[in-house]
Amino acid sequence: MLLNLTILPGDGIGPEVTGQAVLVLQAVAGALGHQLKLQYKNIGGAALAAVEDPLPADTIQACLSSAAVLMGAVGNPAYDHYPNHLRPEAGLLRLRRELGAYANLRPAICFPALEDSSPLRADLVRGTDIMIVRELLGGLYFGEPRSIAGTPGSRIATNTMTYDEPAIERIARVAFDLAMKRRRKVLSVDKANVLECSRLWREVVIRCAKDYPDVKLSHMYVDSAAMSLVQRPKDFDVVLTENMFGDILSDQAGGVVGSLGLLASASIGGAVGLYEPVHGSAPDIAGKGIANPLGAILTVALLLRHSFQLEREAACIENAVGTVLDGGARTADLARSGQNSITTGEMGRKVVEAVESSPAKQKSA
Ligand code: NAD
Repeated sequence: MLLNLTILPGDGIGPEVTGQAVLVLQAVAGALGHQLKLQYKNIGGAALAAVEDPLPADTIQACLSSAAVLMGAVGNPAYDHYPNHLRPEAGLLRLRRELGAYANLRPAICFPALEDSSPLRADLVRGTDIMIVRELLGGLYFGEPRSIAGTPGSRIATNTMTYDEPAIERIARVAFDLAMKRRRKVLSVDKANVLECSRLWREVVIRCAKDYPDVKLSHMYVDSAAMSLVQRPKDFDVVLTENMFGDILSDQAGGVVGSLGLLASASIGGAVGLYEPVHGSAPDIAGKGIANPLGAILTVALLLRHSFQLEREAACIENAVGTVLDGGARTADLARSGQNSITTGEMGRKVVEAVESSPAKQKSA
């Protein structure tokens, strides 16, 4: 198969982890007989530095003419004082909207070798396998009006949370469809005791559930869900939630399974899928060669699965990551005190080697 992709390395650790993810992609493609057509484009701070636009037109065009987009991360403190529409993050929000990617899938799985890397007790996290389904194009991040108005000392800031029924229904169906392939449980997270958006959310989700009689639907307020996620993470299966709640809960899930640096995400539903690790540009560790590339590498697995239906290739990457972790390799974020840690590049190389010696490759040879 020809895999036609646009790569957006972005800012901070984005290029470091994306570089390793592409090496793993090349290894899987080489091992299992696929051809790659990759074009690299700027986004975020890198694009602002080049052309003063966080999402240049040629980046959008390249993404829309690809079968899928692999991104690193955006964000650079140098642009923190820029107006909202000119900040690196605005480029990513616009890209999600341009691609129509309304469903953000964020798996959080506890690898057996990493039970001790979680801040929680190993017996609490063992077996955790959560799929957070986050609505990506609505809610506070996109709602209008939004502004900071007035004079210093008496300014007023406004953001708007809006959801309409079709937007809720389409993301709910993604969650129920995924649940049918998993443990058939959907937890819908909202704040229906306070927010009108959440009351509509709950009503529409309950209506959709009637089409999925085999799926057990439950509801939780977001504050209670945050507490339960650390008390009993393995009870969670598919978590369906709106944009901001999903943003927060998925970072928390990253902490639960060991590190934010492990988490991958897929943003689908539009013409072209957008795939990115959950973490940001991590300016505190950028350029040090210590970022964990596994979130970006596992993101490639999601890309192969969801945009190309290449399940064997996706599993090959996931198994290779498991093998490398079983072998004791740890980047600094995963290492416990006294454990040695390896660099971003060393971790990437180990995954490439595991892919190249995987049974999936030998079967196809
Ligand atoms: P962050 O995810 O960049 O970092 C949070 C913490 O996790 C930091 O201590 C960082 O060092 C650590 N971390 C993150 N990824 C890691 C990895 N792969 N390996 C090891 N450690 C890792 O979040 P932040 O600090 O809140 O934000 C930094 C910048 O990133 C901001 O500009 C923010 O807007 C942006 N951001 C971008 C995205 C995205 O591109 N999708 C997501 C979140 C934040």
